[in-house]
Amino acid sequence: MGSLRQLALAAAAGGALTLLWILGAMRPFDLPLSDLLLRLPRPGGAAEVPLVAVLIDDRAVEELGALPWPRALVARLVERAFVSGARAVALDLILSEPEDEAGDRALEQALALGPAILAATLRDDGGWLLPLDRFGGARRAAHAEAEIGPDGVVRAIFATKQRGGRALPALALAAARTLRPEIAVAPGALLRPDFRLRPERVPRRSAAAVVAGDLGTGDLEGRLVFIGIAAAGGTDQFVVPTRRDRPSPGVLIQASAAASILRGGLLRPLPAAGVSVACLLLAWLAQVLRSRAGSLRLPPMLAVVAALALAAVSALWSLRVQVPLVTVVAAFGLSALLREALESGLARRRTDELLRRLADELSEDEGTAPAPHATGGRLRLVQELQARLIRDRNLRRTLLDALEDGVVRWDTAGEPLLVNAAARRLWGEPPDLSDVRADARADGEGGVRRRGGRELRVTVQRLESGHLGLLRDVTAERELEHRRREMQRLVSHELKTPLASIAGFGGMLQRYQLSEEELHRLAGLIRGESERLLEMVTTFLDLERLASGRIEGEKGELDLGGLAAERRELIAAAAAERGQTLTFAQQGPARVIGDRQLLARVVDNLAGNALKHTPQGTAVAMEVAGDGQRVELRLRDRGPGIPAESLPRLFERFYRVPGSGAGGSGLGLAMVREIAEWHGGCVRVESEMGAGSVFIVELPAAGAAEDP
Ligand code: ADP
Repeated sequence: MGSLRQLALAAAAGGALTLLWILGAMRPFDLPLSDLLLRLPRPGGAAEVPLVAVLIDDRAVEELGALPWPRALVARLVERAFVSGARAVALDLILSEPEDEAGDRALEQALALGPAILAATLRDDGGWLLPLDRFGGARRAAHAEAEIGPDGVVRAIFATKQRGGRALPALALAAARTLRPEIAVAPGALLRPDFRLRPERVPRRSAAAVVAGDLGTGDLEGRLVFIGIAAAGGTDQFVVPTRRDRPSPGVLIQASAAASILRGGLLRPLPAAGVSVACLLLAWLAQVLRSRAGSLRLPPMLAVVAALALAAVSALWSLRVQVPLVTVVAAFGLSALLREALESGLARRRTDELLRRLADELSEDEGTAPAPHATGGRLRLVQELQARLIRDRNLRRTLLDALEDGVVRWDTAGEPLLVNAAARRLWGEPPDLSDVRADARADGEGGVRRRGGRELRVTVQRLESGHLGLLRDVTAERELEHRRREMQRLVSHELKTPLASIAGFGGMLQRYQLSEEELHRLAGLIRGESERLLEMVTTFLDLERLASGRIEGEKGELDLGGLAAERRELIAAAAAERGQTLTFAQQGPARVIGDRQLLARVVDNLAGNALKHTPQGTAVAMEVAGDGQRVELRLRDRGPGIPAESLPRLFERFYRVPGSGAGGSGLGLAMVREIAEWHGGCVRVESEMGAGSVFIVELPAAGAAEDP
């Protein structure tokens, strides 16, 4: 909220209330409140002023006769008052018509006893109806007109009033001046008594008591005596601020006003400049409070209003200045309300904008209607947007779970926020950020990690808040790649060499005239090479089929001992020709579940290798041993042994021990391993250079419990 805007709001609210006050529109609100303040009990009470009212009341009428009183009786009353020690007399009675000569003379004489002020009334033609000249005429005349406010309440009296070219002082002012002639008041000024001596509390005596001389000592002594009518049915009665339920007799109002004048208890209204400054200040204060609190809060507002009320009371009591409290408080309130209206308008516009953007973002179709203005419609729109968000979120979840790749999202603290189904499956547990990241870092943009027999490519990306991890199962991909390389190797290395020899031999046959013997030798070479090629391709394809699981071996229960013994018979015959022996021994049961042909290949392969690498005249031992759980086939030779650095790679395809002589395909042991694994077993080798090697194939025994 800019301070310029606040200033404008404060000026608008303060200015509006000042204007209303000037136009008088606030009076119906301000006046009752300032009346109320006048009624507040004041410390010190009504200060003592030497005045007393002598009232022609119901008792006087009853004892001395009905109104109007004959002049002789009035003369008697005035005379008694002076005789009783009155300092001066203010007579609020009409004395403008001559009556009987005796009565008029009696009053003239009574009035000569001391200072007296006499009320003049207004004539029908607007001029003054002055007391008779013999009573003092214009010299003693004063006006007894109180100013009646718009609400019928008397709050002021004009210090002087001009009628028909003659200005008369107010009765209260003229009476007060009989005690203190120095009192100065601007002519035409409006006197606003503070009514601290309330009209209804003015000390009083009944005219009946005065006429009868029935007075306490000093009742009138040295006092200013106001004489007037208070009997029921009197017309000279007005409502005053201090007593609003019943009108008070005019004479008492004049007496009360005189007390205010004597005590310096006249009120001054706050001038227009003061009102406008107060309104603007309070309106500004409302803005400041609102900005501090950030919202409209009642307690500070109430505190301000209470402080204002206190200030108004103290201004009234100490400076006698009347502050239009309602106007000023209204400026404060209006300023606060304007601010609220503006803020809520702004908030509404901003909400509209946000809603519209949100709706645009979420909308499936082009273009969105503007946010509705009614609260119900806006609520419906919000609900609709929420439903769309939930739909979107569910769709996202479904999509993520349908992905084959694992997706993990961590928050800034590394806690997983989102783990899709694939991530749970691939990782097995909620993936830990640092764990995953360690792998990802190992290989720049994405590392490969073995987990649960699978190979996962892991990438971690930093997000604005947290990290995003992707896990891709690359087992099959890498396997395929591996196979492709092997196939390439087969064609580019393993097949090329024998094919080149065959082609070479073929060329020799074409080009040269060969003898029968040479022809025979070449044909033998060609046949040997082709057979080796055929063997290699066949083995390779078999391996492929085994590795890819495409081979449907016929698994049945068989005795590995029997099978090995059988194969030994065949191999031993050929070995004997080279002066080699192949022994056989069996220990324990050797029944396994397997494919006879494949297992025969294992036996042939291992036995063939052992014999091939064993010098003439030595023995190779074939052993089969079983313990009911496992069955082992061992081939033990006394050959040259295998260098330690070759052992780890021995069972790889195409691997040949360097310097072991040409001829082999490097596929035999790979085949052995593939078959062993196909049967749920394994193969291993122990070898010592110069001492020989043992190849051990280990298979699960038939009927043995599954893996413990
Ligand atoms: P190949 O058909 O070339 O013999 P294999 O996979 O059967 O291929 O054997 C791989 C390598 O292991 C060969 O290079 C061979 O030298 C070596 N090898 C196999 N068996 C033995 C053994 N019993 N003693 C020494 N070396 C052996």
